[in-house]
Amino acid sequence: MSKKGFERPERLQFSGSEYATETQAVRAGQWRSEEGEHSDAIFPTSSFVYTSAREAAARFSGEEVGNIYSRFTNPTVQAFERRIAAMEEGERAVATASGMAAILSLTLALMKQGDHIVCSRSVFGSTVSIFDKYISRTGIETSFVNPCDLDAWQAAIRPNTRMLFLESPSNPLAELTDISAVAAIAQSAGAKLVVDNCFLTPALQKPLLLGADIVMHSATKYLDGQGRVVGGVLVGNDADMEEVFGFVRTAGTCMSPFNAWIFQKGLETLPLRMKAHSEQAFALARWLEAQPQVKRVYYSGLESHPQHALACEQQSAFGGVLSFETHAAVDDLRSSAWRCIDATRMLSITANLGDVKTTITHPATTTHGRMTAEARAAAGIHDNLIRVSVGLENIDDIKADLQLGLDAI
Ligand SMILES: *Cc1c(COP(=O)(O)O)cnc(C)c1O
Repeated sequence: MSKKGFERPERLQFSGSEYATETQAVRAGQWRSEEGEHSDAIFPTSSFVYTSAREAAARFSGEEVGNIYSRFTNPTVQAFERRIAAMEEGERAVATASGMAAILSLTLALMKQGDHIVCSRSVFGSTVSIFDKYISRTGIETSFVNPCDLDAWQAAIRPNTRMLFLESPSNPLAELTDISAVAAIAQSAGAKLVVDNCFLTPALQKPLLLGADIVMHSATKYLDGQGRVVGGVLVGNDADMEEVFGFVRTAGTCMSPFNAWIFQKGLETLPLRMKAHSEQAFALARWLEAQPQVKRVYYSGLESHPQHALACEQQSAFGGVLSFETHAAVDDLRSSAWRCIDATRMLSITANLGDVKTTITHPATTTHGRMTAEARAAAGIHDNLIRVSVGLENIDDIKADLQLGLDAI
């Protein structure tokens, strides 16, 4: 880590990079103060003091390593960054205020006017908007492609393409992208591949080991895992992250120490939670497939999933999110889905995901409601589609609650 002038002293710090993911989740990156606290300390301070004017000058000039101001560095934020960097097997991480702040910071730090992005069309709704509506204003253009079609990725490459961006599995239809294959396309084009690893996390998929250059997270989801705070993070090599860090410390898209502390604690249980979420979602997907009211289930763990073999290759499990379509008449598609959602009693009707609480949502009128009907149809998000982020309640209680919904279809 070459954060000249902005790194904590190394002596009390445990990098943990030689350990397995479960061990890193608990131990990597902790910076222990001289008090010897066992749990991670939290440093809610906006600025830092010096013993003399000379020391202040040395810090500001970069001659001396240390903190200055929490828009630049903060020990709690750095501890979270070191832990997630170790877990994703990257050189360095930069934490941001939200997942969207991560995408904005990354794009403005690494790209310039006249550059071009190729992006999967099946990415988070705000990701489409930020590229299409806002980043486009800086003269950086984005082309959207079918994430499953390698020829489409290749065909979209232009001489000025600098970044390829994807999410795998996608939300809500669990479409997968062959990350190694797209990494090869990016490499031969001299562009960087960025993977939004929000749905699987490093506990289940490590895009950097598959050839991606940068991993991005909405830490808001599984990294926290209990639906408390909003945050984001980027992981990559030292050179790229130094650029991103430069942007974040200047633009102020930084993470707060309170949130970093929550995420740091969240990471400790991440591998355990992802294993449990995956087991629960797998059981629920199998059960839903057998229900007469269900037309189709989208989950990469099912053998009926067209890319199940790819899922087994690049993921170590299938994650906690699935979606399904109701059997309904053409003029009853939306109503059937709404009746199902409304008849559940315990499940939370919310668009958030990655929580210990199971959530249920109607993508066509919430997360994907701002797309035109044609764009939704092209993306395969039909009005009878329901998404479930499977939480950690007892699986029989989740099934019983969904049964109430299915009975109302
Ligand atoms: C939520 C989400 C984002 C945006 O993250 P925020 O923390 O809400 O800004 C980006 N990508 C995916 C896949 C998400 O689910």
